[in-house]
Amino acid sequence: MNIRLLTQKIPVGISQCAMGDPVRYNAGHKHSKICTRLLGRCFEYVPVCPEVAIGLGVPRQPIRLVKSDSSADAEVRVLGVEDPALDVTEPLKEYADSLVPELQKIRGYILMQNSPSCGLRKVRRYLPNGHSHDSEGMGVFAQRLREQFPDLPMEEVGRLNDSDIRENFLTRVFAYDAWFRYVENGDEEPRPARVIEFYSAYKYLLLAHHQLETRELGRLVGNARALPPREYARRVRGKLMEILAHPASRKDRANALMHSQGHLKAYLDKDERAELAALIEDYRRGFKPLSAVLTLIRHYLPRSPHHFIHSQVLLAAEPAELGLCDFR
Ligand code: SF4
Repeated sequence: MNIRLLTQKIPVGISQCAMGDPVRYNAGHKHSKICTRLLGRCFEYVPVCPEVAIGLGVPRQPIRLVKSDSSADAEVRVLGVEDPALDVTEPLKEYADSLVPELQKIRGYILMQNSPSCGLRKVRRYLPNGHSHDSEGMGVFAQRLREQFPDLPMEEVGRLNDSDIRENFLTRVFAYDAWFRYVENGDEEPRPARVIEFYSAYKYLLLAHHQLETRELGRLVGNARALPPREYARRVRGKLMEILAHPASRKDRANALMHSQGHLKAYLDKDERAELAALIEDYRRGFKPLSAVLTLIRHYLPRSPHHFIHSQVLLAAEPAELGLCDFR
């Protein structure tokens, strides 16, 4: 498994109003330059406005999440604000279900926050009397997507303004895309050998995200014969995406870099080893950027004849650049 520069953009779904299209209830949009100009360098967008798609016009009366009562397990429906008799819960769910075949090709989804259709988290919910109840809701369209594609990387437009969250999203989209090209590719049964190779290449990046869960995943990966190939690949994929969803801390990333350094030790002299160890420590303490450590490690990499260290995704690119890489 080798890494090469990406030649094709990755297909990613997006709430259409984030593209600058005037599809909101008030005929406005919520253009995100981060999405179109920055991430658009890596992503080929599939824009969808579920509310327009189910036949609500532009402009239209706003809709909102309404709980049947204040109990924890009360039913939540999407109702018109001006006319509560307008109930679009089922059409939104059915539309999400109808998109499943088309969305098999997408490798991530960017959703507009605070929307009763598209919001991923903390969407405001109301009671039938019109009073605000809480902000613990999820858009009905987004929820259905989550049920249909449980491992698909999903993020909200607004949160992508945060560089750490953006890098994490890129990392997950890139991993999900690489997985479907390298492991679960086409109708053939996934080959366990490919699952193992993929895990091996991602091992140090996974360690940077969650050490304990990576070791658990290692045990699952090592037990290929216990499950049918499809189920084995599905479970490894799910666990892998779950681990990458954890933010990578400097401490854990420095740990993974120390592991990488261990593979190079035999090919460095005393001063070089000391310089690299000091640089990793400076990174861990927040004094140096990741790029400084990666540049030095990459400088020494050609000295090692071992494939394992050359295949490590952690060393291949900084997270911000991950969307520009590819596997073959
Ligand atoms: S948030 Fe979703 S439903 Fe609302 S305008 Fe944007 S794309 Fe359409």
